[in-house]
Amino acid sequence: MNAPEFPPLELPDFDNSFAALPEVFYTRLNPLPLPEPYVVGISDEVAGLLGLSPELLQHPEFPEIFAGNRILPGSDPLAAVYSGHQFGIWAGQLGDGRAHLLGGLRNERGHWEIQLKGAGRTPYSRGADGRAVLRSSIREFLCSEAMAGLGIPTTRALCVIGADVPIRREETETAAVVTRVAPGFVRFGSFEHWASRDRGLELQQLADYVIDTFRPECREAANPYDALLRDVSRRTGELMAHWMAVGFMHGVMNTDNMSILGLTLDYGPFGFMEAFDAGHICNHSDHQGRYTYRNQPHVAQWNLYCLAEAFLPLIKSPKQAREAIDDTYGTAFEAAFERLMCAKLGLREALDDNETFIGQTFGLLQQHRPDFTLFFRTLSRLPAEIDGRDSAKTDAALRDLFVDRTACDAWLATWRARLAQTPWDDAERQAAMLAANPKYVLRNWLAEKAIRQAKEKDFSEVRRLLTCLRNPYAEQPEFEDYAALPPDWASGLEVSCSS
Ligand code: AMP
Ligand code: MG
Repeated sequence: MNAPEFPPLELPDFDNSFAALPEVFYTRLNPLPLPEPYVVGISDEVAGLLGLSPELLQHPEFPEIFAGNRILPGSDPLAAVYSGHQFGIWAGQLGDGRAHLLGGLRNERGHWEIQLKGAGRTPYSRGADGRAVLRSSIREFLCSEAMAGLGIPTTRALCVIGADVPIRREETETAAVVTRVAPGFVRFGSFEHWASRDRGLELQQLADYVIDTFRPECREAANPYDALLRDVSRRTGELMAHWMAVGFMHGVMNTDNMSILGLTLDYGPFGFMEAFDAGHICNHSDHQGRYTYRNQPHVAQWNLYCLAEAFLPLIKSPKQAREAIDDTYGTAFEAAFERLMCAKLGLREALDDNETFIGQTFGLLQQHRPDFTLFFRTLSRLPAEIDGRDSAKTDAALRDLFVDRTACDAWLATWRARLAQTPWDDAERQAAMLAANPKYVLRNWLAEKAIRQAKEKDFSEVRRLLTCLRNPYAEQPEFEDYAALPPDWASGLEVSCSS
């Protein structure tokens, strides 16, 4: 019998704007093939953004293409160079040690670059194997899409392709390639790279590339580079507010993992806050606790100062470069954080002491450690007024998250007093809170369950989780379990930089 015939593939038209930069910015090289690749998961939404046909997603060539085994016509694979500060220390040259940019394309939905992560060594691999394991690839895939579902700026992920090739980490695992998609992958460290080498020309070429491709409005400013720096700073401030509001912890906020477009970038040992602890360290390798939940906004600002220093040759005045951050970052972060927290708390109008109340709320969470996501989701359904009802019964679902229920009651009384100052139809207020407080986040135990099954070649849990996390604010009775506290088996889960 002949093999079934598949129609010729309709493939995207690449425009490869990054590859149009001078060759010092990257090394051209093809991905290293993986034998017998198979599909682990595909995001239909990202396929739609790229304009990939449903036939392509089903095609037997699909895993070959996104494992890097088959080079698409028009694609111009390359690995980019960058440098950066890691854990607060200058690390010198880094670069895409295991990422191949296949190319860029433009359609009515935007400009998209497609990158394979884990497709083999590059000149920037620094002795490492250029591969990624199935575990970390599933985590990056699911979390990129979960963050998009939450409405948080992020790189996206088209698919995970697996192969039964052993990869040595702390234990031997198998290989996978995750296909990432974003308007661009330029990092703070991409600028630090040229600044550290006194290469003003390349620095300016890179800044011009970013402005012309992504931020043309900066050209209108007296100093377009100053405008770009302010834009990055503002977006980074807003991004931090989003992370804090959903309890997301990145885990490795090195300057080479910070996107010049203000996107969440490079998912590694990230975590979502469960039992609240502002000092939580989600990255097992972060021995000093540099990247705790509470430090994230400060670290982002520190990283922005590194970027501002790299911009000095373009802005000339150190004072002006520093002001570009100081004028924008704090206000962008605080305004977005207050807006998001007020939405989470159901406070419609900005009262003058909201900040104090938000602080009190975090104080309550820190002292009593309820699950962060469940706290706000459960709160969303409580009535604004008790009027004669038995409050212990009415508030039972929230009180159950606390050992010390009187502390919960006292905070609830303050919360209700504030709600009374910002009158709002209660059904409307509850609906608004439910739209601001996700029911589903990618808890470590959920990712772990999907990974364990995937290791046994059952990818159904990856698909189910993706479906659920697409609509994190909606009630999805079929996924009720995914909103639960971590089960006992998950209490010792640890994630490190090893991926
Ligand atoms: P990360 O901490 O994951 O952002 O990685 C820091 C740097 O190490 C980046 O330049 C990565 O490309 C590189 N890297 C991490 N893991 C590997 C690997 N398995 N093979 C090659 N390069 C890697
Ligand atoms: Mg990185």
